[in-house]
Amino acid sequence: MAQDPIAQLRRQIKEETARDVAARRAREKTLRIVDVREQHEWDAGHIGGAEHVPLATVAEEVPKRFPDKTAPLVMQCRSGVRSVKAAFALKQLGYTNVSSMAGGIVAWEEAGLPIEEPSRLSTEQLQRYSRHLLIPQVGIEGQQKLLDSKVLLIGAGGLGSPAAYYLAAAGVGTLAIIDSDVVDRTNLQRQILHDTSRIGMPKVESARQTLTRLNPDVKVIAYRDRLTAANIDDILPFYDLVVDGADNFPTRYLVNDASVKHHKPVVHGSIFRFEGQITVFKPFEGPCYRCLFHEPPPPELAPSCEEAGVLGVLPGIIGSLQANEALKLLLGIGEPLVGRFLLFDALDTSFREVKLHRDPKCPACGDNPTITEYIDYEGFCASPQEWLREHTTIASPAD
Ligand SMILES: [Zn+2]
Repeated sequence: MAQDPIAQLRRQIKEETARDVAARRAREKTLRIVDVREQHEWDAGHIGGAEHVPLATVAEEVPKRFPDKTAPLVMQCRSGVRSVKAAFALKQLGYTNVSSMAGGIVAWEEAGLPIEEPSRLSTEQLQRYSRHLLIPQVGIEGQQKLLDSKVLLIGAGGLGSPAAYYLAAAGVGTLAIIDSDVVDRTNLQRQILHDTSRIGMPKVESARQTLTRLNPDVKVIAYRDRLTAANIDDILPFYDLVVDGADNFPTRYLVNDASVKHHKPVVHGSIFRFEGQITVFKPFEGPCYRCLFHEPPPPELAPSCEEAGVLGVLPGIIGSLQANEALKLLLGIGEPLVGRFLLFDALDTSFREVKLHRDPKCPACGDNPTITEYIDYEGFCASPQEWLREHTTIASPAD
């Protein structure tokens, strides 16, 4: 009569209860628990101090880690079947002090014994973010940080498109996007969140569809609105940082003053024809936008209302750099562009960096700030770039 093969193996293997293993481990310092489950099971929670050797690799890996065949080893899996197989395999290899934990980690937990902080990432998430998990500076902890993060994007246009796309792909858990426009055919040369079928659709709705299709982990909050002095305090304070892709002065100054008030970093980007600029305004650590330009240009000097041209790929480059800065700030790694103004020239393919300093006389973040309430600047047209280009050398002290 055929017998259960596991039952046959069991008769030849010493089995111990979870409590006995825990008690033995407290006494015998050399005793090792070997967890023979798969990677995703291990990642979902394991016994602290255990060795992880998936069952398929036991015969190869255990002799490498434990060349001494008298080493006290306890095989452990989920419920105590694979661990019997592992123990049997080691016995065949000549190991003399091997046992199997009956009931596996399930019994261990039921006995009230501690489990190492299980990851809150699901199996799908462990796969989706595996290339992040392989980087020591990110890992499960960093990925969890990203999933818990909230980023506010100003604009779902040229810069907002690549920035939002990469932040969503990276698993930033909450992305809020504010934009009052609808998708226009002229946007499609560079605004890659949108497509031809979405012409006429609100940009924030188009963005929501694209981003949730890419990554269902991401909660997209769509504000089909303009940021104003009246609504900014109801929006900005709830986010960890701001990615500013605004193309106009009033929004830029408003975002600056609110970010200084609420101590939120702003990853600032701007583009014009073949030139892009990016920096991080981190309140009270580096300069803010008003340290550079105290006030918007007077209306008579403001640039014309004609739309500015831009090479389609340029916002892709600058917006991706903004996503890079945002991820670094969220993870707390690397050197963000605080006090550093990075200029990119697409025609030369060259980068130039200008050092920026806080201005003690800054009306927003200086020693005696004069901006005490928000100002809705009126009458400024789309592109501040030309004006900025003329004033950059004056307003930003180069090192
Ligand atoms: Zn300032």
